[in-house]
Amino acid sequence: RRAIIERRFSSLNEKQREAVFATEGPLLILAGAGSGKTTVLINRIINILRFGEGLDSSYAPAGATEEDLLFLTEYLTAPQPENREHAERLCAMHPAKPWEVIAITFTNKAARELRERLQAALGDEESASAVWAYTFHTACLRILRRHVDLLGFETAFTIYDEDDKKRVVTNVMKSLNLDTKTFDPRTVMSMISRAKDKLMTPRQFRADGAGDYFREKVAEVYQLYEKEMKKACALDFDDIIMKTVLLLQSNPDVLEYYQRKFRYVLVDEYQDTNYAQYVLTSLLAGYYENICVVGDDDQSIYKFRGATITNILEFEKQFKDAKTIRLEQNYRSTGNILNAANEVIRNNVGRKGKELWTDHGDGAKIHLHRSDSQEGEAAYIADTIREGVEQGLRWGDFAVLYRNNVLSDNIAAAFIRAGIPYRVYKGRDFFSRAEVRDMFAYLWVLENPADELRLRRIINVPARKIGDKSVETAAQLAVGNGVTLYETVCHASDYPALSRGAAAMEKFGEMMENLRKQKEFLSLSELYDGLLDQTGYLAALEARGGAEEQSRIEHIEELKSYIVSYENDHDDASLAGFLEEMALYTDADQSGEEEDAVLMMTMHSAKGLEFPVVFLAGMEDGLFPGFRAMERDEDMEEERRLCYVAVTRAKEQLYLTCAERRMLYGRTQYAHPSRFIDEMPRELLDSNIVERRMFQQVTQPDPGLSRAQVARARYVSPAAAAPSFAAPAAQPAGSPLPDFSAGCRVRHKAFGDGMVVSVKPMGGDALLEIAFDQKGTKRLMAKSAAQFME
Ligand code: ATP
Ligand code: MG
Repeated sequence: RRAIIERRFSSLNEKQREAVFATEGPLLILAGAGSGKTTVLINRIINILRFGEGLDSSYAPAGATEEDLLFLTEYLTAPQPENREHAERLCAMHPAKPWEVIAITFTNKAARELRERLQAALGDEESASAVWAYTFHTACLRILRRHVDLLGFETAFTIYDEDDKKRVVTNVMKSLNLDTKTFDPRTVMSMISRAKDKLMTPRQFRADGAGDYFREKVAEVYQLYEKEMKKACALDFDDIIMKTVLLLQSNPDVLEYYQRKFRYVLVDEYQDTNYAQYVLTSLLAGYYENICVVGDDDQSIYKFRGATITNILEFEKQFKDAKTIRLEQNYRSTGNILNAANEVIRNNVGRKGKELWTDHGDGAKIHLHRSDSQEGEAAYIADTIREGVEQGLRWGDFAVLYRNNVLSDNIAAAFIRAGIPYRVYKGRDFFSRAEVRDMFAYLWVLENPADELRLRRIINVPARKIGDKSVETAAQLAVGNGVTLYETVCHASDYPALSRGAAAMEKFGEMMENLRKQKEFLSLSELYDGLLDQTGYLAALEARGGAEEQSRIEHIEELKSYIVSYENDHDDASLAGFLEEMALYTDADQSGEEEDAVLMMTMHSAKGLEFPVVFLAGMEDGLFPGFRAMERDEDMEEERRLCYVAVTRAKEQLYLTCAERRMLYGRTQYAHPSRFIDEMPRELLDSNIVERRMFQQVTQPDPGLSRAQVARARYVSPAAAAPSFAAPAAQPAGSPLPDFSAGCRVRHKAFGDGMVVSVKPMGGDALLEIAFDQKGTKRLMAKSAAQFME
């Protein structure tokens, strides 16, 4: 009987099905990595939208309980006349319409995947695309665009990215005479960001920090920043969420419209939502309360961006009759990988605590490889991938993840040498090129002439004899007359003060106005061609004709391919729509034919993804966890969660790689393998490391220990060194060999502080090469050197 009901969802386990069928009311799905949270979310939507109202029990009617379903199946198998009425009533429960469902995912890529899977399941493109399967930002932009006037914006708004934002903040700081040494613009920017995450207005921010000089000053910047943004009709990324919340909170009719519209609200990766997103979700789900949030407290990795785990931990308090479903079976990884992940995350305190199991078997051991240098590490990765492909794997089965983007160049270089196809996800690199920013600036000004920042960027690019001074004068006139800079420029000859620059300005204004008119009837790509031509931008590059210019021209052409692909994807393609999509775009979002290539990305951007073979590169103390994180338990816990996320991306094979020596930011550094590796049970690892770890005690000395004790702790006896990577190299009889390993810091009575560069076993002793900070590199025998160590 059950089999018939659940035919549609027969591949799911019982808990997962329970979550799929619990469509009504608040539901929290709290479960570890790879347990099928996202899978459940997608199947829930399919269930909610089940097709046809006929007596087809292969889909559960929305709102039906498990009993209802059993009843229905029974009726269908052996209809009893007295049951007919009830069965019909059950089936008549309205299935939701696609536009009544909003499913929020963390990345555009995830949103696209969700739509594709819905489409495959529903066999209907139109329904699938009517579901609001978006990121928070895209969903908010859709709402904002419709009600922009209620925010007091007269024209279409512009979106400022981090770079634009920095310019505005810096300008504001300049006008307040704030010293950028005391007030680092980036610190100020992130304080403003965090304030917006918490929905704090400048006034609240000021009240909150009253008495604190620094905060008071930042509050001033925040206030002026908001004024500038308003003037330019511009929103930054944080505004996109915050202003949507404000819009809904201050316009009950708009709120009601969306609350009634969205019968079902679903949010994936809920552990990484911030306060503003939490409020937004609660508002949207406020009428039906059919809200399903899905997450894993152990995978919360965006605290630094204002995400707060409280949202998930307090869900049960927020919704009194909330149901919580936990999923415990992991379907992604082998036993060894899963155990390693479980053991690492176990070291965090203050977690909800859950264990995952798998019936996949142990699988291969986790490979741990330490190379002497970063080049060695990269070569090892390249060789291993080549071997894998020779044995029948595809390039695309491999992913290389790292904590920090700086590690990618070196690995990419090795891939090039080895002829390995690869793709690096670097976020928005393409969009930060000057020529690409110029093109976008033109397009934004066509959409929103009030965007003064962008207008200033392009008014004299290519050179049009409009000097900075004239622009400054025009800007002041604009302020004085209460009009925009753009309008002043268009009517420059009306202003005697602009005498010299006036003609050039008006000519520029005419050209832009002309393009703005063309925008109404040309397709986007035609408009773009017109822009390249009429602005003279392309011609100026061609005239100069160097190699640098050639590459710029290529980027400008590449941008056109983005426009064309946007046009292909959207029947209702518009300039505003394109600009919005691009503002939120990262290269991980790319659709279309996925070429077969090794993927490289940061651990953060790998969230939610999975790969047959995963390399975690740069697994070294100092890099991962980073030095800064080591100073605070809280930060260490966040790094550890990131490690948990990274490890659990692997399905079949996991490689941890590290190097003894690494050139970073122009300096060679020596490092120990990451302490997270120490947290993995030794027996799960298959390692090439023969030295033992002995440094831990020195980096975090127990305050109760005397200096001498701390120093002695460096030479941990083999038995006390736990957990260790490998059995120590055969010890000579007689006096034990003092334990040095490459990368550890030492203090020598005569030579001062230094770093062990290499250790070569030699006739029961070892030859050390130590680079002393003051005295240069020296070679010493270990046993005698030990006597001189403090
Ligand atoms: P993460 O925490 O990393 O986001 P998740 O909990 O969202 O993971 P999914 O990505 O949904 O997990 O699923 C992980 C893998 O397990 C996917 O390959 C999915 O197809 C598979 N899977 C999920 N449920 C089942 C099931 N019942 N039977 C077989 N495979 C399943
Ligand atoms: Mg997921």
